Amino acid sequence: MDAVLSAECERARGWASLALDCELSELERGHLRAHLAECAACATFVAGLREVTHELRAAPLPAPSRPLVPRRMRSRRVPLVLALLAIVGAAAAGGVAGSLRPAPAPARVTATGVRLTALFRSQPPTMPGTRLPLRAAV
Ligand SMILES: [Zn+2]
Repeated sequence: MDAVLSAECERARGWASLALDCELSELERGHLRAHLAECAACATFVAGLREVTHELRAAPLPAPSRPLVPRRMRSRRVPLVLALLAIVGAAAAGGVAGSLRPAPAPARVTATGVRLTALFRSQPPTMPGTRLPLRAAV
């Protein structure tokens, strides 16, 4: 295990990791090169880091032994199908019930109804049993 690293060595090793992921700016890359030229410990560390990273990236991906679908997603499929069937069933039942109901009778308008409507529209509302306007009582 290494002793406590200096701030420059810690920063250089962080930059080395970023450089392997192509996430290092050109300025930081220059600082890393300058540090590695002066610090043998970090140069050795970065060489090992590059080697391990290269081996990991070159290794074939292991195939999973079983499908990697979360259990929650698998268990939600059945209720979703049931919910869709319930919706379709309810819509079909509503359509059948609506077709069985008799059609409403057309509204009839009588001459008396037309006259009463015109009378109520022309007069302001009054107190019950009086001719006093409703607004004056309030
Ligand atoms: Zn160093």
